[in-house]
Amino acid sequence: MLRVCLVGLLFSSALVPALPAAAQAPQLSETAVAKAAALRDQALAGNAAYVLVESLTTEVGARMPATEADARAVEWTKAKFAGLGYDRVWTEAVTFPVWRRGPERADVLAPFAQPLLVTALGGSVGTGDHPVEAQVVGFADLAELEAAPDGSLDGKIAYIGYRMLRFRDGRGYGPAVAARSRGPSVASAKGASALLIRSIGTDSHRFPHTGMMSYADGVTPIPAAALSNPDADQIERLLGRGQPIRVRLDLDVGFDGEYTSHNVIGEVTGRSLPEDVVVIGGHLDSWDLGTGAIDDGAGVAITMAAGALIAGLPAADRPARSVRVIAWANEEQGLIGARAYAAAHAGDVARHLIGAESDFGAGRIYALRAGVDEASWPVIERIGHVLAPLGIETQRQGGGPGPDIIPLAEIGMPWAQLAQDGTDYFDYHHTADDTLDKIEPAALDQQVAAYAAFAYLAADTEGQLVAKPRAP
Ligand code: ZN
Ligand code: ZN
Repeated sequence: MLRVCLVGLLFSSALVPALPAAAQAPQLSETAVAKAAALRDQALAGNAAYVLVESLTTEVGARMPATEADARAVEWTKAKFAGLGYDRVWTEAVTFPVWRRGPERADVLAPFAQPLLVTALGGSVGTGDHPVEAQVVGFADLAELEAAPDGSLDGKIAYIGYRMLRFRDGRGYGPAVAARSRGPSVASAKGASALLIRSIGTDSHRFPHTGMMSYADGVTPIPAAALSNPDADQIERLLGRGQPIRVRLDLDVGFDGEYTSHNVIGEVTGRSLPEDVVVIGGHLDSWDLGTGAIDDGAGVAITMAAGALIAGLPAADRPARSVRVIAWANEEQGLIGARAYAAAHAGDVARHLIGAESDFGAGRIYALRAGVDEASWPVIERIGHVLAPLGIETQRQGGGPGPDIIPLAEIGMPWAQLAQDGTDYFDYHHTADDTLDKIEPAALDQQVAAYAAFAYLAADTEGQLVAKPRAP
């Protein structure tokens, strides 16, 4: 009886018209793996990324959005892409409000008069014609400020003292940065006339850290600035003496008009599916205080150099898809270039197989993570095998897309993360101390090797990668 049934099943299944083949799981060929491994080893022998970031930070310097240097950086990037042998180079316009920084100063007036080192938070209003002079009221963290009664800070300067913690993966940033992003609105709602915060940074040097904030709807904008960590310590010692501390804050900053910059894009044309792309890149803009070496000159240089290695291959050895390297405009003030790119390319997002951004400094890559579905995961594992000799571990859990990848990931593009060691990233992030000397050339080579192998393999994947389903 059993036998009959089995025969019947086999027979009947043979009569059923063939179903459309299920989408084949994506895979990589051994040829692709061998070519990517050769690119990896070639990258380790060079110093192409260091040459690029040295040029960018020396010949352009700081690249604050909407400055003359912003335009110069766009021209620099176009010229470098062309000189590195990219097949196509173009720009896409990005328009945003201009925020400018002029002189900024803070002083303790009483009881122990002395200057403090501060910098305005990006997006802050200025203090206008008259500096703010007021008593400082200290809070341990944003939650403590939020718990203050409404109106209790009328005519006062609020100060938030939360100290960011150091971790390799930078997870101390999230809990700290709310004081910067939301603190000004909370302080305003309590009646404060200005906000000072301890810098969102892990160093003990006298460099205040800037970074973006915005005002919640309906609150009165108040000036907001960050003290360097040692100056924050000083304020706390002064507050600890129990006498009222009066501070004068004078910030000549604010929004003024609009500006159009550009995402700069270089592409290496694919062998057989040139309309389909793998995206890598970094953001071209920086804050104004340093020269934007680790944030994010390094990321631009690493991914440009990685694409250049692929551009140098004979046509027959190119990966199937194109490799698109994007130097995004104005990341710092709200992913403005990345949002413009995602809006302009929403109609062809399905042709973007996967994307990865380098924007976490210049420290070596230690982990590969990805936002892909189960069926796509074996391709990531295979890429991970090629990256393993670089000291990179494939991690199934955690991670997230680089900031400029987020808008594309939100509309369905799979992401990868080549996670960098950020142990010292927040010592320099958004300060005058973000300069070229903080970059170790050999660490850049390791990252060029990883990005070149990753981009090659992703672009030569047979079949499609699919984004990890989003949690409901
Ligand atoms: Zn950045
Ligand atoms: Zn930044």
